[in-house]
Amino acid sequence: MKGIWFDGKKASLRDDLPMPQADENHSLIRILRAGVCSTDREILKGYRPDFRGVMGHEFVGIVEESSDRNLTGRMVVGELNEGCGHCILCRTGREKHCLSRKVIGMSKDGCFAEYMTLANHLIHVVPEGLTPEKAVLTEPLAAALEIPERIHITPGLHAAVIGDGRLAFMITQVLHLSGTRVTVIGKHPDKLVTFSPYADTVLLDDVMHKLSQEGFTAEDSFEVVVDAAGHPSGMELALQIVRRQGTIVLKSTYAGKHPFDLSLVSVNELKIEGSRCGPFEPALALLTEGRIVLPEPEWHSLEDYEAAFSSKAFKAGFVL
Ligand SMILES: [Zn+2]
Ligand SMILES: [Zn+2]
Repeated sequence: MKGIWFDGKKASLRDDLPMPQADENHSLIRILRAGVCSTDREILKGYRPDFRGVMGHEFVGIVEESSDRNLTGRMVVGELNEGCGHCILCRTGREKHCLSRKVIGMSKDGCFAEYMTLANHLIHVVPEGLTPEKAVLTEPLAAALEIPERIHITPGLHAAVIGDGRLAFMITQVLHLSGTRVTVIGKHPDKLVTFSPYADTVLLDDVMHKLSQEGFTAEDSFEVVVDAAGHPSGMELALQIVRRQGTIVLKSTYAGKHPFDLSLVSVNELKIEGSRCGPFEPALALLTEGRIVLPEPEWHSLEDYEAAFSSKAFKAGFVL
């Protein structure tokens, strides 16, 4: 079998990988499309030094073999965290936090290959009318949908999103759909233009200038600030522009530790919500109904993996 293998340091294309075998709780999936995520790029930079295996966790495929007859032959997507099934975290709906979980493409063979196995309960059937090209965006969109799962979105809410990347774009559309007024703060005028149907946009430099000159009044501040900057500066800014007793949603992950003035959290009585993977079914529904509009990924063959990993496109992916 062909696949992109991580050896602890670098990725390579192999054609001698063993065919994965599905046991009674797993399905064998033939991969159709797979998406490259920033986490894959972090793995190449050393985020998972102990991992050896097939990379990738965003996919669409066809179930070829399964003990679940409802899955056989269906086009599916799947969640990446496979818990042990019996610890306190798994038993209380927190499988993605299970301490002995296996994560596809990070601690278990992933989807940048012709075939992959996945636990049946993590598999979601793609609705009629949703193409594989679009369905591959389910996992990243689900991550954006975790925000309304975690915080109470009220009518008239004014939220800020820090960042103008892919995740920020999806978060902005999700918040816009729920009736929230959104202001996006970003560095790139060309990217900010694409946000304008859903949000007010403002350049980070202008926000920094205002903070240093006149400061933010209570009216200027935001009830909810989502940090999707992918850099510690996002959290620093969030602490300055969030309203007192407001909420910061932390979506960014970055390597290393960073000093923040956390006395602002106690003095201003802030809430900080960390947020990671989210619900698949609403993501599939929104994509099928066309209520979230995302650019078509830039497609590559597995052979072309270096170009896919270094792509600056909204989303790069593989056609299997
Ligand atoms: Zn991802
Ligand atoms: Zn568990």
